[in-house]
Amino acid sequence: MKTKYLVIGAGMSGLAFANFIDSDDYLVLERDEAIGGWCKTIKREGFVWDYSGHFFHFKHPDIEAYLRARMPDDEVVTVEKLSKIIVDQSWIDFPFQKNIHQLPKEQFIDCLYDLYFRNEAAKDFDQASFKGMLYEKFGRSISEMFLVPYNEKLYACDLEQLDRDAMGRFFPHADLEDIVRNMRRPDNASYNASFTYPKNGAIMYVNALKSEVPDDRVLLGEGIVKIDLAQKIATTTLGRTVAFEYLISSAPFNRLLELSALPHDPATFSYNKVLCFNLGFDRKGPEDVHWVYFPEHKYSFYRVGFYDNILNTERMSLYVELGYAANDVPDVEAARTRVLADLREAGIVSDHELVAHHDVVLDPAYVHITRQSREVFERLSGVLALRGVHTIGRYGGWTYCSIEDNIVEARALAARFNML
Ligand SMILES: Cc1cc2nc3c(=O)[nH]c(=O)nc-3n(C[C@H](O)[C@H](O)[C@H](O)COP(=O)(O)OP(=O)(O)OC[C@H]3O[C@@H](n4cnc5c(N)ncnc54)[C@H](O)[C@@H]3O)c2cc1C
Repeated sequence: MKTKYLVIGAGMSGLAFANFIDSDDYLVLERDEAIGGWCKTIKREGFVWDYSGHFFHFKHPDIEAYLRARMPDDEVVTVEKLSKIIVDQSWIDFPFQKNIHQLPKEQFIDCLYDLYFRNEAAKDFDQASFKGMLYEKFGRSISEMFLVPYNEKLYACDLEQLDRDAMGRFFPHADLEDIVRNMRRPDNASYNASFTYPKNGAIMYVNALKSEVPDDRVLLGEGIVKIDLAQKIATTTLGRTVAFEYLISSAPFNRLLELSALPHDPATFSYNKVLCFNLGFDRKGPEDVHWVYFPEHKYSFYRVGFYDNILNTERMSLYVELGYAANDVPDVEAARTRVLADLREAGIVSDHELVAHHDVVLDPAYVHITRQSREVFERLSGVLALRGVHTIGRYGGWTYCSIEDNIVEARALAARFNML
């Protein structure tokens, strides 16, 4: 086989590239049996679940309009976000650092005092690290009550390993003035105040992109196992070879380096896994909340979301997320039993009956952005680009981003080819 643009992966990034390239001479190879990557949706017993909660805050109206024009009318709901944190049995609003005044008085004083004298705590940590940034900006108590344990549960690593800017724009920054002002004039709204979600799940955004791509341009169940950079030939799991002029890969960057036999230290690209449980119950649970963050290590999960409160449905429908290190192998049965016990402990489940469930391990889920990963990514993605291989997407770009970012990036790459 031969194609001008060979695309690895039929997730948001690969399909977005296929939408915006001005050419019919392309082929998308997807190793899975279905399109969507991590943006898939499952329906079971009347519940609609994603591979973990996927909610959307579009910043480019043209991208949102492009997707909506390719979706059924009335498919998308827009919701004013209600997100909470449970610490020591208090429910407080997210983000924690802007709502310390909602804590019991002693904890509030600790947080405020340490915030004011934050420079003292910051000296104990590497200022270039994510952990150092937390202590430097928020002081010891805010860091230790929420920011550090929550992110340790999520990233499943020592936060001193991560780059100061590991979460980019997804970290809700607030300075002393914002925090104090928020005590009188709440402005939690500034961080993604509302979001959209399709009634039939996040896959509807994927389907919108797929609607522009003919079926014969997407080969499912066929992955790339080897890339010969010199000859520009890829070999597939079915033993076929595909000659290409350009290769656009949305496979995880560390995997692309292996496929292309580019020497690198595998330890440079560390990441976590997320085990996501979707749980459907016989009746409603807590209302007026869309998701809750759990920083305390006594709970196995770091976040629980309520699809029923987002879609206004009658039975409690949860996603529950647990973080693992890359080399951990989750015991799914044991984890589900523990999750159900922890949900009871947190007061979310009482005598509810579990009527349907689903689980998936997202591997990788959150990449660990470190100084070294940034440097090696810059250098090796540059080497690959000289060979006509372009790496895009959340994992291809070894970054933290949204599906909108994936579309913006894929569209920009296609636009560069369209000008050639
Ligand atoms: C827990 C979690 C929550 C998230 N929540 C949100 C959210 O609320 N809102 C939001 O906008 N984004 C969210 N995201 C991010 C979003 O999931 C990603 O940005 C998006 O799905 C990435 O799409 P992608 O196409 O770049 O990668 P992927 O979805 O990983 O797609 C890559 C595709 O390539 C295929 N592939 C890999 N290797 C090969 C190979 N060798 N040969 C062939 N095919 C291959 C894979 O099977 C996959 O289908 C979340 C992510 C996680 C982990």
